[in-house]
Amino acid sequence: MIIDTHAHVDMDQFDADRDETIERARQSGVKYIVNVGCDIDSSRRSIELTEHYDFIYATAGIHPHDVKDITGDTYLELRDLLQHPKVIAVGETGLDYFKNYSPPDLQREHLRKQVELALEVHKPLIIHSRDANADIIAILSEYFKNDENGRAGIFHCFSGDQELANAALAMGFYISFSGSVTFKNADSLREVAKTIPADRLLAETDCPYMAPVPMRGKRNEPSFVNHTAERLAEIRGLKLDDVHRTMELNFYDLFGIGEQAKPGTVSYQIRNSLYLNLTQRCTNSCGFCTRLTKPIVQGYNLALDREPTALEIWESIDDPTKYEEVVFCGYGEPTLRLDVIVEVAKKIKDAGGRVRLNTNGHGNVINKRNILPELKGLVDEVSVSLNADTSEAYDEICVPLPSYRGRIYGEIKDFIAEAKKYIPDVQVTIVTHQKNVDEDRCEAIVNKEFGVKYRARRYNIVG
Ligand code: SF4
Repeated sequence: MIIDTHAHVDMDQFDADRDETIERARQSGVKYIVNVGCDIDSSRRSIELTEHYDFIYATAGIHPHDVKDITGDTYLELRDLLQHPKVIAVGETGLDYFKNYSPPDLQREHLRKQVELALEVHKPLIIHSRDANADIIAILSEYFKNDENGRAGIFHCFSGDQELANAALAMGFYISFSGSVTFKNADSLREVAKTIPADRLLAETDCPYMAPVPMRGKRNEPSFVNHTAERLAEIRGLKLDDVHRTMELNFYDLFGIGEQAKPGTVSYQIRNSLYLNLTQRCTNSCGFCTRLTKPIVQGYNLALDREPTALEIWESIDDPTKYEEVVFCGYGEPTLRLDVIVEVAKKIKDAGGRVRLNTNGHGNVINKRNILPELKGLVDEVSVSLNADTSEAYDEICVPLPSYRGRIYGEIKDFIAEAKKYIPDVQVTIVTHQKNVDEDRCEAIVNKEFGVKYRARRYNIVG
């Protein structure tokens, strides 16, 4: 099921077939539509739609194009509309210096006013930003500072660059892509779309505008949001189901609408791989890791109230040959449960499956012996997180147990060298954009010292 987080079905382009359009959206699997107000009248019409359709929600706000028409009563009316139980956000508001239909100073003044209103009524914002990167960042950052919980709102129909995306994410905004990400000439936007963490990604139509390929040129409508989601899945190396699941959870996290992901996930599918969640314990406390605060991966909740037994894990795998690989992974270090890995991997191999182990490379230190001979024939591929080019940087970023500090980086390198002797495929990864890490040097170390596959990945991006 997909969500259209930004539609204007109230507009007169839908007067002839509004009900049919909405029904088509429902039939094509659109779970919710957020109909966005651009001024008082359209906010009111949006609310009327919510009263006719259980799966439509509304926002109320004044678009930057329309702030020139604000009168003395506008904010009184806006406050009144924001009381409606199905009005879930303030907006769309923002800055549009491309068209400049309203004077820029007025746009800035009313963006501030609407941000303050959103904070006062505790609702997220819907932000429109066009050709106004510096000002939108400057104004919003006065109000939102490093909100990692992502409750500030949505940058809708995102068309900005990486700098704007990074700033919006840092301030706690979600990034919503429209049909523009499917356009032929949108390679740079697709590059940005690849870098958005899964837990901040949304999709929308912005209908009746911006129809996605292959509907480009037609009037856009909520059912077309599937084309944008498909393209986002393709860009990120995922399946459509993965994008749907993650966006549903994001929508829930932002608006509290829908279903929360249930904790206790033992096995979970992403693309054609099945991942096994053995433990939440780890010998690191990486600064970027959310295993204890928000253990969500692609819409799956990996929080465990107890660790599953080997039998429970095995029984959660219906048929290992259905998947390209079965991966010991999760939000925790799997080699803390080496006996479980060995027992389950043996069963997977006996059944004809392929096994990968994702590890922080501490396994030999944790188990106080060289564990790699024990994995021979059971693990087809091992992926080790190196994450740094020096021991000092590793300790700073990954914050290993105190007794491991100063020596664990060398132990990880030994683990990689040893893995090559027993595991057919060895890969070394780093998480990019970490302080005091020279990523080129990491790659050189992997190439020169180990001659194995190297992958630099942004945290919380699967693909
Ligand atoms: S090693 Fe992995 S599971 Fe452990 S803290 Fe770091 S990112 Fe999280």
